[in-house]
Amino acid sequence: MTRVDCALTVNSNLCDKFSVTRFPMLFWGPPKKFIGGGWDPKQEKSEIIPIENGQTADILLGWINKQLGRSYGFDDGKHEKEHLQANTSDSGQIAKAIYDIEEATFTAFGIILDHKMITPATRASLIKFLQLLVAHHPSKRCRKGSAEILVNFDDLCPSQTMSVNNEKAESCSKKGALGNYHICGKEVPRGYWMYCRGSKNDTRGFSCGLWVLLHSLSVRVEDGESNMAFRSTCDFIHNFFICEECRQHFYGMCSSISSPFKKARDFALWLWSAHNKVNERLAKEEASLETGDPEFPKAIWPPKKLCSSCYLKTSKENGKIEWDENEVFKFLVSYYGKGLVTLQKEMEQQSGSQTEKIVAEEVVGSTHAVVVPVGAALAIAVASCAFGALAYIWRSRQKNRKYKYNSLKNI
Ligand SMILES: Cc1cc2nc3c(=O)[nH]c(=O)nc-3n(C[C@H](O)[C@H](O)[C@H](O)COP(=O)(O)OP(=O)(O)OC[C@H]3O[C@@H](n4cnc5c(N)ncnc54)[C@H](O)[C@@H]3O)c2cc1C
Repeated sequence: MTRVDCALTVNSNLCDKFSVTRFPMLFWGPPKKFIGGGWDPKQEKSEIIPIENGQTADILLGWINKQLGRSYGFDDGKHEKEHLQANTSDSGQIAKAIYDIEEATFTAFGIILDHKMITPATRASLIKFLQLLVAHHPSKRCRKGSAEILVNFDDLCPSQTMSVNNEKAESCSKKGALGNYHICGKEVPRGYWMYCRGSKNDTRGFSCGLWVLLHSLSVRVEDGESNMAFRSTCDFIHNFFICEECRQHFYGMCSSISSPFKKARDFALWLWSAHNKVNERLAKEEASLETGDPEFPKAIWPPKKLCSSCYLKTSKENGKIEWDENEVFKFLVSYYGKGLVTLQKEMEQQSGSQTEKIVAEEVVGSTHAVVVPVGAALAIAVASCAFGALAYIWRSRQKNRKYKYNSLKNI
């Protein structure tokens, strides 16, 4: 839910677009229709509907229940709070984060296009990160969407024209063909967060989803890819994360690594430790400035409740933790690996509905293994002249794989 104060001048244009004439004025519709959208009383068909008689909570809830075909009561709010609090200590909650990873992927890509961040200097790092997503994104539809963008990247955002011709550079922004691509399929964005939902409108969300995406990638790469994954992650954050302070800090941590990673374990543990350093710093800042989410205070992670075997010793003097890094790595692999993709089973058990099964399969896929050959993706980055041929090979392989996958499912 979003609330807009039409008494503020800064919101005048927005309120005019929605023909707001009274207070309160309530609208109902799919979240994405509100982005850049509007409402006009003369418009005959619109997915945004004004709620005419929502003056009391009872009437409003009745109206919402009718729209959803549900029978929510006011007590259901209690469960939402339980969900929020369970979040940090219940290992099952991570399964919901698959939605947030998709949302974060879409948002990150949207920001890059909105802010015209693809330049001759940053283009290669986006391609490298797309390669990582194609191979290891935990959501099947994001792997597919990233692969489509990657395969067509040289046509959509040609490197030769970028530096000399500003008009052509527009093609690498939202206005160009790239803006028509849905990196995680048409279902995304949904306009809300699940695992990363804050207790306030302006907390958590995207940055939480981005961390979860990075951790989930770090536990999926092979030893031989670990240094490439490390570099791609560092460069991606450095070039495309919108928060200046975060970029600087994160790049500082990246630059402190002098010898290349040889093991996926080392990269996953490095990212975990870097995230904890951010948590430690923000815990102090948020406590003094009260800028954090009160339901999710920053803390060293994982808490003992999630992984007691990760803890060897905690110093009584300064609270410093001695970790069992083998256990931490095992925990990361299970939490961000299998834990993250258990949704399919969970949804099947809960609903038993065929439609939801199909949706779940779309989200997770049968395994998190490489769907698109990494070799093809790598080649795409360097061999733009062989682009058409590679795209053809890639598409044919995809078809074969799809065929194989469907045949296997039928066994
Ligand atoms: C790369 C990066 C750098 C950032 N740097 C800054 C910064 O310098 N200053 C700033 O103000 N904000 C920074 N942010 C944002 C900040 O870290 C949080 O994302 C934001 O405050 C929201 O916090 P959150 O409570 O949702 O938890 P987040 O810190 O976003 O964590 C998301 C989830 O990850 C899990 N998690 C927590 N710690 C770890 C860990 N160590 N290893 C694995 N999983 C973990 C938890 O389940 C948590 O719910 C950064 C974000 C990113 C992605």
